[in-house]
Amino acid sequence: MSSNTRYYLDPHTLTYKPVKKNRKLFYRTTLWVSSVIFVLSISAFIFLNSYRLTPHEWILSKQNERLAEEIIQKKDAIIALRDTLVDIEENDDIIYRPFAEIKPIPKDIREAGFGGVDRYREFAGMEYADDLSSVFREFDKLKKQIEIQKKSFNEVESLVQYIDEFYAAKPAIRPISQKDEIYISSHYGMRLHPIYKRWKMHHGIDYAAQIGSPVYSTGKGIVKAAYYASGYGKVVKVDHGFGYLSIYAHLDKYIVKKGDTISRGQLVGYVGNTGSSTGPHLHYEIRKNNQTQNPLYFYMDDLEPYEYDRIVSK
Ligand SMILES: [Zn+2]
Repeated sequence: MSSNTRYYLDPHTLTYKPVKKNRKLFYRTTLWVSSVIFVLSISAFIFLNSYRLTPHEWILSKQNERLAEEIIQKKDAIIALRDTLVDIEENDDIIYRPFAEIKPIPKDIREAGFGGVDRYREFAGMEYADDLSSVFREFDKLKKQIEIQKKSFNEVESLVQYIDEFYAAKPAIRPISQKDEIYISSHYGMRLHPIYKRWKMHHGIDYAAQIGSPVYSTGKGIVKAAYYASGYGKVVKVDHGFGYLSIYAHLDKYIVKKGDTISRGQLVGYVGNTGSSTGPHLHYEIRKNNQTQNPLYFYMDDLEPYEYDRIVSK
């Protein structure tokens, strides 16, 4: 009896009988299992081999990870810089530009549009492409905003150089003393014209006053004209530079001539009733770049009467 022989208990005869080996099935199963193991091993080898990094590649991949972290940190730094720039821009719009009498820069210009073409498509498909694109986008935006701010400072600086001259020249006081002014007979704006009896724009302020009341230049400048015009009557026009012109009309008499340099508060003539006028008054007009302006916006409100008297000639 071979030691390899196995036995089983036959329940009918209650005797042990040798187990017959099915050698064919055994070989077939073994072959099948071996084939599956072989195929799995080959697949695993190919799969793992394709992901296996050389030491050099491993170092590069680690470096990439670190660079990606740094890129994200740089983006945060750029955003922080932009917050600082926003503070500077606000000061520029609220303090510096108004001081130099220039308008604030609209927000949409400051925030410089970057829509449309995808400037960062070169990063497409790269690892960390989104981070790279967004950090470059933030950086480009910051660069453009800084350029705009730099131009604004240059503009303010060039005007501030002349600021003293500008404030000396700009029309800023009443053309007639409050002591002499009886009342304002007509304001700036639409009005029913006293002579033509229809609604017309009134381009200045009318001060009713006695004939002969002194009329003063409201800023430093050069007399551009002193003559008789059919509507204005005897009129003096003063060019203050910086685009400003002041006009004193219906005068009884003027005492300056074209080309005279005059200072703020200098006597230019006297109230009269010449030209298209229904009674003695001074028509006072201010133009900026040839557009009429409401003179009320030009007066120094905090000027005390004695200060006015000190400015105007006696
Ligand atoms: Zn008038």
